[in-house]
Amino acid sequence: MRVIRLLKSAPLLWRPTQAIVRSVARPSLPPSTVKPAYIRYRGNVSQNMPVTVVARPAEEVKGNFRFIDIGVNLTDPVFRGYHHGRKKHDDDFEAVLERSRAAGVKSMIITSGSLHESKEALELAKQHGFYATVGCHPTRSAQFDQFRGGPDAYLAALDALIAQNLEGKGRVVAVGECGLDYDRTHFAAPEVQKRHFRSQLALAKKYHLPLFLHSRAAHADFVQILREEGFRGDGGRGAGAKGGVVHSFTGTPEEAAELMDMGFHISINGCGLKTTENLAAAKSVRPDRIMFETDAPWCSMTSTHASKAHLSSLPASLNGLYFPQATKPESFVHGKPVKGRNEPGAIGGVAWVVHRLNEGVPFEKVTEKAWKNTVELFGLHELRE
Ligand SMILES: [Zn+2]
Repeated sequence: MRVIRLLKSAPLLWRPTQAIVRSVARPSLPPSTVKPAYIRYRGNVSQNMPVTVVARPAEEVKGNFRFIDIGVNLTDPVFRGYHHGRKKHDDDFEAVLERSRAAGVKSMIITSGSLHESKEALELAKQHGFYATVGCHPTRSAQFDQFRGGPDAYLAALDALIAQNLEGKGRVVAVGECGLDYDRTHFAAPEVQKRHFRSQLALAKKYHLPLFLHSRAAHADFVQILREEGFRGDGGRGAGAKGGVVHSFTGTPEEAAELMDMGFHISINGCGLKTTENLAAAKSVRPDRIMFETDAPWCSMTSTHASKAHLSSLPASLNGLYFPQATKPESFVHGKPVKGRNEPGAIGGVAWVVHRLNEGVPFEKVTEKAWKNTVELFGLHELRE
């Protein structure tokens, strides 16, 4: 009866339908009839973790499922056929976008990781009617100090880019990605990362823009800097900023709760659904704080991830749209995705796993919640009804 007990004690963040609540809470159900189906997935899903989804056969789904990929690295050369610096196949950027549209991806926010990438991302966003972030990733923050004219000039260049692109098609909708990454301090020491994270927060306040945040193995320092810079319970609104999203979240439920209490949103992708601990954290994200992304070309979901058990219930019709059959880069075929290169169309798979983690909540309710959160936070008024 472990599953039932856990379901009863879990907070009902998403308000599942009454029917589901009754069926899981029925006290007279003999234990043998509620054999936890996740036992079938031994090896992927720990039997001791409080993850409440019990796999079922593929379910029928009805609805209109639309997405905004809030974190996609479209400037990556892999979308032009370059894998690890070597041309492996033709440029199939347009085909990637076409597959994404077929999967219900209506728009995207292109992630920038440096001054140079910010210019490229804005250019691409203008061409395709998407949006972009402007900022510098913690692992590239040494660029500030190496820049001609020094760190102040680098920051001024980011500032100017924002000022010139605040309106219309292809505009900047967030400052970032910025933050701290202590898993990769060989690119930039923590002190360097901290200094240039802090300086970019000033841009969010100056332009009243949300933040697109990256935090990896650095939670304590990350929240300390944000608090010191005025990002407390209101996402920095008191200091002129406009909240933000912690993208590619892979932290604990406690860390998620702290960030949400500070006024931030949390974005989930395939990297945040790898382990049973990740699933528990993803499940803990409140509906009014959730967003989805792919982080493509990174963070593909694979068969060894904990997400796999939940994707097995994805209906074939959606599976074909979110995960079309892929080929290896060496045997590239026009019109087919490339193995190991994630695409924005896979965002539906991310949303599906979160839907399954919150059993009883319709898929459309999950996708629409993330849609509305995204439109509101980033001011995507073109996508508002
Ligand atoms: Zn990141």
